[in-house]
Amino acid sequence: MPEGRRVAVVGGGITGLATARLLRHSGLTVTILEAGAELGGKIQTRELAGVPVEAGPDTFLARVPWAVDLCRELGLGDALIAPATGKAWLWIGDRLRPLPERHVLGVPTALGPLLESGVLSPAGVARAVLDLVLPRTDPGPDPSVAAVVGRRMGRQVVERLVDPLVGGINAGRADGLSLAATARPIADGAARSRSLVLGLRQAKPGPGGPVFLGLVGGLHRLVDRLAEEDLGTVRLGTAVSGITATDGGYTLGCTPGPDVDADSVIITTPAFATAEIVGGLSPAAASALAGIRHASVVTATLAYHPSADVRPLEGAGMLVPRVEGRLITACTWSTSKWPALASSGMVLLRASAGRDGDTRAMELDDTEVVRRVHDELTEALGLREAPAASLVSRWPRGFPQYDVGHQARVDDIEASLARDAPGVFVAGASYRGLGIAACIEQARRVAGLVTAAGLVGST
Ligand SMILES: Cc1cc2nc3c(=O)[nH]c(=O)nc-3n(C[C@H](O)[C@H](O)[C@H](O)COP(=O)(O)OP(=O)(O)OC[C@H]3O[C@@H](n4cnc5c(N)ncnc54)[C@H](O)[C@@H]3O)c2cc1C
Repeated sequence: MPEGRRVAVVGGGITGLATARLLRHSGLTVTILEAGAELGGKIQTRELAGVPVEAGPDTFLARVPWAVDLCRELGLGDALIAPATGKAWLWIGDRLRPLPERHVLGVPTALGPLLESGVLSPAGVARAVLDLVLPRTDPGPDPSVAAVVGRRMGRQVVERLVDPLVGGINAGRADGLSLAATARPIADGAARSRSLVLGLRQAKPGPGGPVFLGLVGGLHRLVDRLAEEDLGTVRLGTAVSGITATDGGYTLGCTPGPDVDADSVIITTPAFATAEIVGGLSPAAASALAGIRHASVVTATLAYHPSADVRPLEGAGMLVPRVEGRLITACTWSTSKWPALASSGMVLLRASAGRDGDTRAMELDDTEVVRRVHDELTEALGLREAPAASLVSRWPRGFPQYDVGHQARVDDIEASLARDAPGVFVAGASYRGLGIAACIEQARRVAGLVTAAGLVGST
């Protein structure tokens, strides 16, 4: 690609930053346009009780290379840190029960730990075991998570194990989420064998090592390091409202101006924002983008004096099945998961509330969120005092829902853009994986497409 070809990157979250860095490596002229006052999007490390706490994500997947490699390339290899414990609990009824060992995204693959955990009723266990003898089931094309797991192993496995895990990661519902788009390992297991359990047991062993990694000092260090790289021109506080085609390129309408001219555009904003931006270029892409639903979540980190905490917190946290009807959906026991945070002298607990179909937390003000979260944590953990400090963060439409049909919809979006607006691409959490690692993978893919398109154009 000839030096000087101009690429506009819309959105300065992890996808946009990782994309811009790669485009600069290829010698392109890059402008990042970010509506907010700072870079990083949903990666937000704040301070509470004198220590860094994550308002958004706190780890990334370590069993795929993209995030780990990027951290290493940026000199953050020594700062990678695994959670001190992976043990997790489920809050069911009036008790915390251990998430049974040996499971794939909540689908149990061994009977012993499942029985010991007491998570399922005896009837629920008996139904789960039927998977081993039931004839092959054909769930049809692109089934939901619940359709596959429920048919093989029964409702309880879905409601008490898989929905808290898969639904928790996506703030979604197992009966709406596409299995292929959100739970690939389960989909692969289901394809491998008549029995889901046997299929999952046949999976090749993973690479070992921690499943997730964080960064000492917080994930925003990744954003800070990226911001120190050559990313081209970075315009903060600049919202892109639309794109018009010009002779051989595009003009991006910016508020405040000036507008930006570019030969290629990579849009990394959430799908609902992207729909507005491409509306004038490709009504078909805009309509498909607008069809990607998003769920809203509130996170609340509460800091307690150690005297408030009566039960030892042995584990990284707990998940709360939707069927329990609680406000909180999960709680990370932050100081147990990340012992360095204990230097605050406090016990830090980070709760999440809200998911697809449950907007109760979003409707409460911060004081009420803290009160209600504290009340529920008191019930679960036996706390004795009110929190000494708290941090509430809101994520309106923060979690894209990969509903059944998602992958076909994303294929449609890409095909519509290729037809109506060649050189305009989408990437990021709304499309092909919402985790940080998947966003970085998409950045690599789209940067490669833009670079390759330019090379073809220049020959
Ligand atoms: C509470 C929470 C917890 C999470 N936990 C984890 C976790 O533990 N591990 C994990 O891997 N992932 C986690 N995720 C998911 C992950 O953090 C996000 O999916 C990912 O960071 C999204 O990156 P992105 O660049 O695609 O989008 P974003 O971070 O949303 O960035 C998009 C950017 O576009 C900007 N923008 C929007 N509209 C415009 C416009 N019109 N013009 C210009 N700019 C615009 C926004 O201001 C934003 O900065 C979590 C997410 C949340 C909310």
